Amino acid sequence: MKIACLPGDGIGPEIMAEALRVLAALELPVEVVHGDVGGAAYHRHGHPLPPETLALAQGADALLFGAVGDPTCDNLERHLRPEQAILGLRSALGLFANLRPAKMFAGLEDLSALRPEVAGAIDLLIIRELNGDVYFGEKAIRRLDDGRRQGFDLMSYAEDEVRRIAHVGFRAAQGRSGKLCSVDKANVLETSQLWRDVVIEVAAEYPDVALTHMYVDNAAMQLVRDPGQFDVIVTGNLFGDILSDQASMCVGSIGLLASAALGERQMAHGTLGLFEPIHGSAPDIAGTGRANPMAMILSLAMLLRHALGQEDAATRIEAAVAVTLADGIKGGDLGGTAGTVAIGDAVLARL
Ligand code: ATP
Ligand code: MG
Repeated sequence: MKIACLPGDGIGPEIMAEALRVLAALELPVEVVHGDVGGAAYHRHGHPLPPETLALAQGADALLFGAVGDPTCDNLERHLRPEQAILGLRSALGLFANLRPAKMFAGLEDLSALRPEVAGAIDLLIIRELNGDVYFGEKAIRRLDDGRRQGFDLMSYAEDEVRRIAHVGFRAAQGRSGKLCSVDKANVLETSQLWRDVVIEVAAEYPDVALTHMYVDNAAMQLVRDPGQFDVIVTGNLFGDILSDQASMCVGSIGLLASAALGERQMAHGTLGLFEPIHGSAPDIAGTGRANPMAMILSLAMLLRHALGQEDAATRIEAAVAVTLADGIKGGDLGGTAGTVAIGDAVLARL
């Protein structure tokens, strides 16, 4: 099993170092290869996603990605900006499913935007489709006959696009508590009606999963009112974009949240994927040793679970992070004083 490690810019290399210490401690039979990406790659190779990095990624079973974003690249042409690297990797690897877990860690309830007693119950996974919907349909601003301008974006989903993301949702639900909620707007959108029909078809293959459906407006409300009712949510690109940001604010800090982008390619033990923290390169604190590496370490846990089938190792990492937080060891993003390496040490000690 080969993991391609792409630390990127800003705090990326610092938090990646801690994740790699955790990986080494687990003594798994994995090979780690390293590549340049983002601003770091631009400065060294003249491109944010050089061909050698892409080849490295294509030859790996999974990608562990730090962060890209470099203020010294702000004036470059768009295709040379660091952020293009992640878009290029997503499309080259066919990554179509974005997984964002949101879980309330014990002792952090006060950081939530929700009431602590409600926030304490949050332990959910949002699965967002990444390759379809209004983002990729025909779009234009055109002139009508009477001279008024009209903007439009075509919302569309083909049934195979819905089917493959539905499978990701059902499989994820099987690995958790067996509950899947499909979010759509089937009362007004044809796209959503097709979405719902296909999800129901796919459900026949997963009799052990309890499937429910919810309109997106109600889902937004229920996430705030009673987030504990959700386990796995599967939804389209636009609704998922909004709901996943909403869910992340319900749990608190940006320094704790991991994500995965999964592809269609099946590896020996799971699905090819790219695993990264949801936060960016944090140039304001890069090099100060203050970045919280927990989101990066939790991204490693997701990689072990979804790409390598190492559920036990993933659970051990997540438990070690939870105990570290419960013991009061917190980074600056959580109002604490522990630095990057100290947090890495603390997680390792509890592994
Ligand atoms: P991007 O455009 O790359 O998403 P951004 O402008 O949204 O970047 P981030 O890099 O995510 O911003 O940083 C937002 C704020 O959160 C910054 O003040 C940063 O220092 C802080 N931050 C982000 N990640 C961490 C972390 N792991 N530990 C501590 N603080 C963090
Ligand atoms: Mg951001």
